[in-house]
Amino acid sequence: MLSVTEAQELSAAEVREANRFLLRSVPLGETLGRTLAEVVVSDIDSPPHDKSIVDGYAVLAEGLSAGTELAILEEVTAGAVPTQQVTAGTAIRIMTGAPLPAGATGVVMVEKTELVGGENRVRIHETPRSGQNIVRRATSLRRGETVLHAGVRLNPARIGLLAEVGRGEVKIASLPTVAVLTTGNEIVPVDTIPGPGQIRNSNGPMLEALVQQLGAQPISLGVARDEPGELAALIRRGLQADFLVLSGGVSAGVLDLVPGVLAELGVRQVFHKVNLKPGKPIWFGVFPKEHNNRTLVFGLPGNPVSSFVCFEVFVRYALGCIRPELVPQSKLALLAVEHYHRGDRPTYWPAICEEDKTDALVTLLPWKGSGDLKTLADANCLAFFPGKERVFQAGEEVSVRLL
Ligand code: AMP
Ligand code: MG
Repeated sequence: MLSVTEAQELSAAEVREANRFLLRSVPLGETLGRTLAEVVVSDIDSPPHDKSIVDGYAVLAEGLSAGTELAILEEVTAGAVPTQQVTAGTAIRIMTGAPLPAGATGVVMVEKTELVGGENRVRIHETPRSGQNIVRRATSLRRGETVLHAGVRLNPARIGLLAEVGRGEVKIASLPTVAVLTTGNEIVPVDTIPGPGQIRNSNGPMLEALVQQLGAQPISLGVARDEPGELAALIRRGLQADFLVLSGGVSAGVLDLVPGVLAELGVRQVFHKVNLKPGKPIWFGVFPKEHNNRTLVFGLPGNPVSSFVCFEVFVRYALGCIRPELVPQSKLALLAVEHYHRGDRPTYWPAICEEDKTDALVTLLPWKGSGDLKTLADANCLAFFPGKERVFQAGEEVSVRLL
């Protein structure tokens, strides 16, 4: 049987292939906090011209000394362009950001000057250095230069930079659309008193909430009976989404029809059954679509804790290939009390993780198995026990995944 990591890798490979088609161009105003999905190149030099960084006088710096009087030829404000050339004995009044006039080799700031005899002559009170108060063209950016790489998170400064290089729209890794379909003859809606043999649909709302937690709007397809025609009709609708998440019907029971119906509809199975607890019957496949596009199909086992764990371990992992920030890092915590891990299946166990000053301490909850949603609801993490039956000692490090 596949290990969790092998199964995750298989699904990740399919998602990466699909990823290229899940990119969307969005207006700059909607990109804050999102992951850039393309390489962005500058279409300009920045600054676009040699410019003054102060308000003052553009001069020919060489040979000029403090106390000299110069004739003012014209005034250049930001947004305007100079029409004349600076020569020895002349100056052009220039404002911050304005293009440097031809011939000028330095700018004397206005605070170090004084007008003499009206508006047309200026005396300078410093001996200017060549190049002073000038920023040269393309000092910060050169046309054709890469300014942002794919994979960076867009923050306000980067959004400003995108605007500077003329990108009113950029490709971002946007969340896929996710359809959720619950299956089972025994499932009745939340506002119903279950009759004999019936249970309420807890997976539907839970899985849709998990999808919402990832920032996506789930497409709810309701509940399908364990009947091939009804299943096929609803699955067909679900295959229009980027991801289809099913609950139930993937185990070995006589009415576990989901893998068969998926196969009939042309969904290619990638794996079925993974060595983990809870969630062993999980099914994953790919539905090829036009333009090399695809739907990724996750058949989660119907038991609520299995469904939850499989969503966390597989669906979230797959989405994380598109939006890495959605996958929480596991961390290490110390077991509060000894735990005897039975059987050889790697297990995710509902638990409470608490931090003290130096360590994280994890206390396992009295979990009754894959149908025990109440205990999962009391938990704030899943503690992971790798395969092989053995005693985990109190104080031993285990990996936990915070919920
Ligand atoms: P299945 O995977 O369809 O064999 O279902 C396994 C177990 O999970 C059965 O006991 C089902 O009653 C239960 N189950 C299936 N679907 C749901 C659901 N939507 N909500 C709560 N329990 C479910
Ligand atoms: Mg079922």
